[in-house]
Amino acid sequence: MSVLAYCCLRRAETIWPRLSQTQRNGRSTLALIETGVSLESRRLDSTVDVFLSAWAKGLGGGSSINVMVWARGHKEDWEHFAAESGDEAWGYESILHYYRRIEDWNGDPDPIRRGVGGPAYVAQPPKPQPIAEALLKAASAIGIPVFDTPNGAMMESPGGASIAELRIRNGKRESVFSSYVRPLLTRPNLAVVTNALVTRLNLDGRRVIGVEAVVDGQQRQFTARCETVLSLGAINTPKVLMQSGIGPEHELRAHGIPVIQHLPGVGQNHQDHLAFGCTWAYKKPEGVGGSGCEAKLYWKSDARLAQPDILQCQLEFAVPSPVETELKTPEHGWTMFTGLAQPKSRGRLRLSGSSFADPILIEPNALSEPEDMAAALAAVELCRDLGNSEAFTPLVTGETAPGARDRAGMVRLIRRSAVTYWHQSCTAKMGRDDISVVDNQLKVYGVEGLRIADSSIMPRITTGNTMAPCVVIGERAADLIREQHSLSRPSEALFQHS
Ligand SMILES: Cc1cc2nc3c(=O)[nH]c(=O)nc-3n(C[C@H](O)[C@H](O)[C@H](O)COP(=O)(O)OP(=O)(O)OC[C@H]3O[C@@H](n4cnc5c(N)ncnc54)[C@H](O)[C@@H]3O)c2cc1C
Repeated sequence: MSVLAYCCLRRAETIWPRLSQTQRNGRSTLALIETGVSLESRRLDSTVDVFLSAWAKGLGGGSSINVMVWARGHKEDWEHFAAESGDEAWGYESILHYYRRIEDWNGDPDPIRRGVGGPAYVAQPPKPQPIAEALLKAASAIGIPVFDTPNGAMMESPGGASIAELRIRNGKRESVFSSYVRPLLTRPNLAVVTNALVTRLNLDGRRVIGVEAVVDGQQRQFTARCETVLSLGAINTPKVLMQSGIGPEHELRAHGIPVIQHLPGVGQNHQDHLAFGCTWAYKKPEGVGGSGCEAKLYWKSDARLAQPDILQCQLEFAVPSPVETELKTPEHGWTMFTGLAQPKSRGRLRLSGSSFADPILIEPNALSEPEDMAAALAAVELCRDLGNSEAFTPLVTGETAPGARDRAGMVRLIRRSAVTYWHQSCTAKMGRDDISVVDNQLKVYGVEGLRIADSSIMPRITTGNTMAPCVVIGERAADLIREQHSLSRPSEALFQHS
C-alpha cells in the first residue's frame, strides 16, 4: 500500500494463504488461517478456534479495499517506536510533523497536530447517522469524554469517543495509490507494473541487487541501481525475505533454503487487533453513512494503563457472527466491532515450502496471554453497557449478540467469535533487540541495499486502525532514501488534486 510499493498483484493466487481444513464457513472468498501452532492447538483453551483474514491484491493494497477509517495511532505508540529504534525521529513530536505534511484535513484547524494541503484528504462524515450520535451520547453518559475528532488531542489522552475521520471525498473512496501515485503516473522515472508477483530478492553476496518477479506469467528480473524497498505487507514481506534466504536459520533449513542471513525475527512478533462483534437489532431499517463506520471509541480496560487498550469501531450494519457461535444475525441492526487495541499475544509466520507458490502459514496465537482475555472481557462488557443504554432505546429493539452470560460462557463465546481486524503487522520489526529485522533507517540487518516500508516494521501494533501509520512509514522511508542519495523533496504541488 505504501508509496514505495514495488508491484501490485491481481491474478497470482498462489502466494496467498490458502483455505485449509480449518475453514470456519463457506460463505466467503477470503483466505482462512489457523491461530494455533497446529490443528491440535485448536483444542487448547488459549487459542481462538479459527481466524478469518483478507488481503488486498491491487494498486493501493489495503487502502483500496479497507473501511477508510483514518486513525493516526496514540502518542504512546510513537514514543514506543522511538524507544525501540533508539531514534527520536520516530517519536511523537517528529511524527506530528509527518502528519502535518501528509494530511489534507477538512475539519477545525489544529495547526500543531493537523495538516492542510497534503496528499491524504481526511474528513468526517458531514451528517452522521442517528446511531453514531447515539454512541457519543451513550459514551458521555458513562463518563467517557467525547471529542470533536478521534485524532489530534484524543490520541494523546486516556481515550474517548468521536465521529470517525474517513478517506472519502465527495462520496468516493481515496486510496493511498490515488493520493500518492496516480498524480505522478506520467513521470518518466516511475513505472507501475501490474499482474506482477515478486517471487524473491536477487542477491550478489550479501547485497540485494533487485527482485525476481512473475509478470503476466513470465519470469522477469528487476535490477535496482541504488536500493530495493520491500513493501508487500506484514504477511508477504516476511515470506519473500525467508524464501530469499533471510530469516530464522532453522525455518529456512527445514525447507532447504540456503541461509544468506540468519535473522530470527523474520515472521515473528505477529500482531493484530483481535475483534468481537456485539450486535443490536434495529426497530426499523436505518441508513448506513460514510464507510459504514462513522463513530469510534477508545478506552482502557484498566485505569492504570498508559494508553487505551480497547478499540471500538461502530458498524452501521449487522455483522454476522461466526457460525460456531450459533448466534442469529438480525436482518437490520448495527454491530460494535470491539477489539484489543494493544494485544499482548504474539503470533508467527511459517513457510510451508521454498517455492513462491507455497502459501505461508499464519499462527496468530491470539488470546494466548491471559491479559488479552481480561481485556477482551472488559471490552465486551463496555460494549454491552454502551449498546444497552438509554441512548439507543429509540433505535433498537435489543441486543442479539452476545447477550448476558456468566464469565465462563463469555470466555467461550469470545474464543469462538474472535476475528481479525485486518490489521496484521509487526512481523519484521524495527528495533535493536534479538528479533529486530530492520534498524531505525528501515534497513534490513545483515544485508546491504534493502529496506522495508510497510506494516511489518511496526515494533508494536498502533492503537487504532493501521493505514495512517503505514503512510507515515512510507513517508519516513522516502525521507531516509532521499537523505542517503542526496535527493531533493518533490514539490508539494505534484500531489495537488485538480
Ligand atoms: C478489509 C480490510 C479493512 C481495513 N480497514 C481499515 C480501515 O478502515 N482503516 C485503517 O486504517 N486500516 C484498515 N485496514 C488495514 C490497512 O488497510 C492495512 O493496515 C494497510 O493497508 C497495510 O499496509 P501495508 O503497506 O503494510 O500492506 P498492504 O496494504 O497489504 O500492501 C501490500 C501490497 O503488496 C502487494 N503484494 C503482496 N505480495 C506481493 C508480491 N509477492 N508481489 C507483488 N505484490 C505483492 C499487495 O497486492 C498489496 O498491494 C483494513 C484492511 C483490510 C484488509
